[in-house]
Parts: sequence; structure tokens; C-alpha cells
Amino acid sequence: MTATVDYDDLLTRYEPVLGLEVHVELNTNSKMFCGCPTTFGGEPNTQVCPVCLGLPGSLPVINCKAVESAIRIGLALNCQIADWCRMARKNYFYPDMTKNFQTSQYDEPIAFDGYVDLEVEGKTYRVEIERAHMEEDAGKALHVGGSGRIHGAEYSLIDYNRAGVPLIEIVTKPVKGAGDKAPEVAKAYVSHLRDLLRALGVSDVRMEQGSLRCDANVSLMPIGSEVLGTRTETKNVNSLRSVERSIRYEMTRQAAILDDGGKVKQETRHFHEGEGNTSPGRSKEEAEDYRYFAEPDLMPIAPSREWVEELRGTLPEPPAERRRRLQAEWGFSDIDFGGIVSSGALDLVDATVVAGATPGASRKWWVTELARRANEAGVELDALAITPAQVAAVQGLVDDGKVNDKLARQVIEGVLAGEGEPAEVVEKRGLAVVSDEGALSTAVDEVIERNPEVADKIRAGKVQAAGALIGQVMKAMKGQADAAKVRELILSKLS
Ligand code: ADP
Ligand code: MG
Ligand code: ZN
Repeated sequence: MTATVDYDDLLTRYEPVLGLEVHVELNTNSKMFCGCPTTFGGEPNTQVCPVCLGLPGSLPVINCKAVESAIRIGLALNCQIADWCRMARKNYFYPDMTKNFQTSQYDEPIAFDGYVDLEVEGKTYRVEIERAHMEEDAGKALHVGGSGRIHGAEYSLIDYNRAGVPLIEIVTKPVKGAGDKAPEVAKAYVSHLRDLLRALGVSDVRMEQGSLRCDANVSLMPIGSEVLGTRTETKNVNSLRSVERSIRYEMTRQAAILDDGGKVKQETRHFHEGEGNTSPGRSKEEAEDYRYFAEPDLMPIAPSREWVEELRGTLPEPPAERRRRLQAEWGFSDIDFGGIVSSGALDLVDATVVAGATPGASRKWWVTELARRANEAGVELDALAITPAQVAAVQGLVDDGKVNDKLARQVIEGVLAGEGEPAEVVEKRGLAVVSDEGALSTAVDEVIERNPEVADKIRAGKVQAAGALIGQVMKAMKGQADAAKVRELILSKLS
């Protein structure tokens, strides 16, 4: 094993170059070339037909909605849309692909030459898009026995429900010039795509379910060089955090090899979340020959300019403009607003405001309490088991005086633990603030009795001394007393 390399130090010698390939599963009702449903999680092999099983004599027909989504994605990525393009056959054998070829696009992608601008720590980075093309997903192989890989398995089961689900593959041009921020730029790019695709309504973009998958190519070149280094391709990185971590890891791994005078091997690699490292997969020293050729069973796709312009009219507000608008509407400083964006909470805060909470309260819950919990659990904010509507409901309970902030945090904990809606959690856990005079009065009397000196001070007019007694009452009532009422009671009893 090669020596470890300090991350900051390697950047004095090498420039990282990235290439990001993102696969997006579209949320069309039916598959790319047949009418089979695309619902996730169905009983294996129940969502199949002769076309997606590749039976002889079956003929595919392209899904118009998928083409429409592809064009809208292309437009949102500032791409050119082809006047005319075709599907192509990518020939290879694998048991999860019944036809022995994947219907994809090759030299005629539907969208090409685009870009996205990303803001990372106050600086703008432009990532250029090479192409966005249409293809179909493969089935899913389940290797039973052994490690879960095909190697060493006792037998394999195949579910073809996913075979033929429409995919869009978005490929960047080599991304240079991000320097030490390369991992963050990659994460921001995938996060931007996710937001954009969600806003377009074309995919449910769930990285953990595989409807958004990222392969991260990384290489290093000596600073000052113009020649790209040898890249590795880390496959199916399935969370935003992993995009960043796997790239950072590959940069240090490759730097150690190059420092030793070695050569980086061109190969695919797998990222291991637990260990935070990558291990080799398939060697790619020789380009695979897929014997691509234009698909003869499908018509060429020639979207009219009118249709493309009509679709351009359906694009959502661009993310950067939306951010400017929301910051102005919510009245946050750059720092407060930047905190929302960098913690990935923008959509969540927006939805919480729409659900009725103030921007300040929405921001507070997501950026502090919930961000902390997400961080502890090692998941993204939006993977937490709480919805913006529930967060707004928690704040509603605070506003109505039913719970205080401290209790509200326990309500959130209950919702996250699956104990039900906020009001149910308050009920089940008995969290409501006690403002019932009888119960409070008894607790206040007890505390006064135990603290005669403090009581005397208050009687003598030293009202500030009440704080100590309030604290004790709150403690006795496990934080569930209505503090304002307690204060009122103490002062009236001792006046
Ligand atoms: P493959 O079929 O091997 O996955 P693609 O062309 O689909 O190749 O994708 C390769 C990705 O890597 C693209 O995003 C491309 O811009 C990028 N890339 C190409 N060469 C390099 C390199 N030397 N270093 C980093 N990224 C690269
Ligand atoms: Mg590729
Ligand atoms: Zn089918």
C-alpha cells in the first residue's frame, strides 16, 4: 500500500480533473418502449411484457413523455436540442439485459453542449455539459450467497421490472480549475441537478433508491500541464456526501501513486461508505467495443422547433433566480440565507413556509435542530423522516403555547422515531406544557416552602430573585411548566 498524502499538500503539485456521469430515472407512468408500469418495489417480474423482455418479434415504440422530459432536462441545462437524432444499440451480454443490447444514444444525443453555474463558498464555477441522452435501464440481478457480488454467489435471481425504465444520462465535459474545491463542486453539481430535476417534475430523484445515480471520474495532472491524467471511474455513488468523500479519497490515492512514480490504472472503482475508501472493479485499459449502430426498429426523433419552444416555456424558475427571490421575500442576511443553502435546506424551508410557519422559525428548525440530527445519522436533511408540514405543525404548537422550544425538540424526536404526527407525539409522550393553575400552584407552594430566604427577598421587593424559584419549579415539572404562569404565581403569592 502506498503512503498517505496530505490533501492540501497534494494540491500544490496536482490539479484535479473531474467527469461526472449522472443517470436519472424518469418518473413516466410507463416504460421507455412499452406500456409496462414503472412503479418501484413491485413483485419481481410482474411489470414485464414481450418488448421489455426482448422476446423475438416484439417491436418497441418510444415513450413521447420520456422524450418530452429529455428535452426539458436538456433545455434546463442550457443545452442545444438536436433537430434530428436516433436511438442506438449498445451491444453487450449481461443476464439483466434480455435483448443483449441496451437501447441508448451514441453519437446523436438529444441534447448537447450545455452548462450549469454553481456557487460554492461564494465563488461561481461553471460545469460544462457534454451531452444528455436517452436510454433504458436494465433489470436487477440479486446474487444470493457469498458477498452479494456475482463472484462467489451460489445462484442469481433476476427481476426485470426495471428493464426498460426510461433513463437520461447527463455527462459533463472534463471539469478543471476547481482546485481544492473539486469535491465540493462535484457535490454542488449533483445537488443542483437533483434540485433542478425535482423542480422540473421529471424524476423523484432519490439517490438512496437509485433514481439518481452518479459515477465520478477523477484524474490528476501536474500543475501547469495541459495533458489530462489517467482517470478512474467510481461507480454508483449513492449519496451527496459520498460524491464528495469518494472524490477526495481518489485524489489522495492517485497522488500517492503518482508521487511514487507509479501510474494510475484506468479502471472502475467502488466506494465503500463505511470505510470511506474505494476498491477496484473492472479494468478499463482497453476501450470496450460495444459495436454501436443506429436502432433500426425505432423512428428517428425530430422534435419540431415549435415543440421545443413550447417546452422551454414550461421550465421552472432557474435555481439562482429563485434563491435571489426567496432571500428577498424572507428578508434573511447573506449569512443566514447562505446557511440554508449550504445545509441543503432551501426546498425544505420553502415548503415549511408554504405550510404556514414563519421564515425565521422554518430556518431555525431545519438549519439547527434537524441539520444536527441528519448529521448525527449521516444522512441528508431530506432523508429525515419528518416533512415540512410536520415541522410547521411543531412550530404551530409552540406558537399556541402548547409546548416550549425544549419540548418541541422532543416532539421532533418523536416524529422522527415514527410515533406519529406532532400533536399525537405530544399526547403519547405527555409533553404538553402545564398551564393548569392547580398543578402549578402546588408546585410553586412546595418550592417556596423549601426556599424561605429567597421567598423573603422577593417579599422585600427583590423581584429578580424569582428566577431561582422559577427554575426550580420548571425542574420539578420536568420542563413542562408554562414559565410565564409560574412567574405570575410566584409574584402574586409573595406580594
Ligand atoms: P465512459 O464510457 O468510460 O464512462 P464517458 O465518455 O461516458 O466514458 O464519460 C467519461 C467522463 O469522464 C466524462 O464526464 C468526461 O468528461 C470525463 N473525463 C474524460 N477524461 C477524463 C480525465 N482524464 N479525467 C477526468 N475526467 C475525464
Ligand atoms: Mg459512462
Ligand atoms: Zn414491457
